[in-house]
Amino acid sequence: MIPEPKTNSSPLVWVIAVPSPLHRVFEYLPPSDNKITPSAGARAKVPFAGRDVIGIFLEARESELPTSTVLKRVETLLDSNLPLLRPDQLQLLQWLSDYYLIPQGEALQLGLATSERKGRPSWTEGQDHIALTQGADSIDTIPARASKQKAAAQFIGNRTVSIASLKHQGFSTAVISALVKSGLAEKKTAKQSSPCPQSTVTLTEAQQQICSTLKAQMAGFKPHLLEGVTGSGKTEVYIECIKEVISKGRQALVIIPEIGLTPQTKKRFEEALGCEVPLIHSGLTEAERGRTWAMARSGLAPVVLGTRSSVFCSFKALGLIVVDEEHDPSFRQQDHPRYSARDVAVKRAQICDCPIIMGSATPSLETIANCDQGKYQHHTLMQRPQGSELPEIALIDTRGLALTGGLSDEAIGQIRCTVERNEQALLFINRRGFAHSLQCEDCGWVADCEHCDSSMAVHRTPPHLSCHYCHTKISTPSYCHQCNSGRLTSRGIGTEQLEVLMHRHFENAPVFRIDSDSIKNMETLTKALQSIANAQSAVLLGTQMLSKGHDFPRVTCVVVVDADSLLYSPDFRAEERLLQLLVQVAGRAGRSNLKGKVLIQTRSPDHPMMQQLVDRSYSEQARTLLARREALRLPPRGAMGLIRSDSRRERDAIDFLNSLREKLPKPDDLRLIGPMPTLMTRRADMYRYQIIVQGQTRKAVHSLLQTARDIGSTQKLGRKVSWFVEIDPTETL
Ligand code: ADP
Ligand code: ZN
Ligand code: ZN
Repeated sequence: MIPEPKTNSSPLVWVIAVPSPLHRVFEYLPPSDNKITPSAGARAKVPFAGRDVIGIFLEARESELPTSTVLKRVETLLDSNLPLLRPDQLQLLQWLSDYYLIPQGEALQLGLATSERKGRPSWTEGQDHIALTQGADSIDTIPARASKQKAAAQFIGNRTVSIASLKHQGFSTAVISALVKSGLAEKKTAKQSSPCPQSTVTLTEAQQQICSTLKAQMAGFKPHLLEGVTGSGKTEVYIECIKEVISKGRQALVIIPEIGLTPQTKKRFEEALGCEVPLIHSGLTEAERGRTWAMARSGLAPVVLGTRSSVFCSFKALGLIVVDEEHDPSFRQQDHPRYSARDVAVKRAQICDCPIIMGSATPSLETIANCDQGKYQHHTLMQRPQGSELPEIALIDTRGLALTGGLSDEAIGQIRCTVERNEQALLFINRRGFAHSLQCEDCGWVADCEHCDSSMAVHRTPPHLSCHYCHTKISTPSYCHQCNSGRLTSRGIGTEQLEVLMHRHFENAPVFRIDSDSIKNMETLTKALQSIANAQSAVLLGTQMLSKGHDFPRVTCVVVVDADSLLYSPDFRAEERLLQLLVQVAGRAGRSNLKGKVLIQTRSPDHPMMQQLVDRSYSEQARTLLARREALRLPPRGAMGLIRSDSRRERDAIDFLNSLREKLPKPDDLRLIGPMPTLMTRRADMYRYQIIVQGQTRKAVHSLLQTARDIGSTQKLGRKVSWFVEIDPTETL
């Protein structure tokens, strides 16, 4: 019942969070035919800035505006029964809005599937499941000539399975329809899927021990770090814990960093759990994503697998979150809205009062620090099952060596031996394209990007120059733009060039190049991974894409072509990143029973980090880095924030920050550095400047950022430049 507004008092209004960049919520009059007060989280269609938008109802209250204010009316209440945003999501997203300084109206949208944001249902539930009408007993009545139908029926057995999972098993629509037509099977709207786990591997003692510790804590909020070398069987531990959670009637969310990893991971989880594991990632259609969303919300999906944004998905009864490769930088969204999916996941687990397992072979320093402080429980798996050994790491000092296409004779020799043993070699190079840049041999001119402070990369297939920052492409010049000389040389080897070279050297082995030029979508990636799995000897080469998560059992030799390209960077996280990357790349070797070898080519073999790679474990090295951060009072010690301003006019970017800084309070416990240019100051024609905020507590830094945001919004220049504030930035360059 809505209380009758008193005469002359403020009218009763609905407070609505409207998707807009404004950091405030709006008051509306309830719809004219309204009889109920919705629950917080319900969607409402409201007029805003001249159009209809879908906002989220927060509360009904007496208006806080002057009585003379003309209020607009809510057009329709879309969710009159259950609100689409569940209380736990609402709480999470309001926290997100506060913590990451994101406008509430925009933050709340993240908890809805794309179609729901447009006012439609996420997905119309249809009869998309199937069961045998007479149960498994009827399988024998299927004639042998209908072998495919028989196989499909055998797969269904006594279960109700989703049609998608049947298709996933390779059964065509025709086969499924035939089963239904013959009356052997019927389509169903499954109310509940009953996963029937299939037997998996026998856990090692170490895995078992961790599993029993974890399984004893599958109720209530508790963060865990599972630190395990690559290939140590962390995924098997996740699976065991998920089974436990499902058996209690609750759901699990598994978050992984890369969309490219989803097909492999999905398959593995489905086989182990015996149920469909729907996906959430940016490569899906709106309908596919909506379907996952609806399945998770209704409880139909016991497990959901997704990238970053799945952390906001709606669940009926979330009982466990797994964040795999928790150290991965791609958990951080680098454009608006900026947030760390890993950190949000921890908050979500806290709100849903469930455990969270963060796994990695190379945990982030933040997470290690949280373990040290007793906030997270630390579990370690330092051995690979089946006794497969960790690869041996050797440095190759490339100073003074004649390199062939970036490779030393020793590396080429090792690749040859590997291929001859019918095994696979993996070459990691941090640069795509044919070469890093095009330079004039006579005057030193370099073909730079017109829009960025960067040289352009040389590509050969098809021939052109390309800027990897703003994606500008131009045709390859034949003459120097400065002295007209025709002697232009490409410098710094890239994946394309290495590919040509490998083809020439190893005529009999297939060469696979994996980078964002050769792999345009999931389909090509899945195909390439399949061909790699089917090949005996092969040379794989590629960028970061190759370093992440993929399982290449036949790879026994890994070559890091140029480790130095990553070594020197002013970002305080650069060493941590390099260390993680090298350990992850190295981890691709010898994952099955074949022993692996890793060669790291460097011109800085004496750098402490390079030395330690050879003879110390990741955790020992991470401790060294952590001690250094501590001494320099850098995160995870203390906290950091960022105020960034980008503009086509360099002066505006600087002036905005200068005037903002002048107006900001100057608390003793904070240090403000800047305005200063970012490392690549001009990018895509924007000049990028920043102020870094450092402090002992996150609270102090956060509060200053909040003040900066509020003051910035009142600045005239603020409308001319593109600016933002960011807490816990991961890139301070
Ligand atoms: P991680 O997730 O730590 O990288 P995985 O779980 O992918 O490791 O395991 C690596 C490989 O070892 C996989 O092929 C997996 O099937 C296998 N494996 C894991 N645990 C066991 C076990 N207990 N017995 C046999 N094989 C195992
Ligand atoms: Zn020249
Ligand atoms: Zn550019």
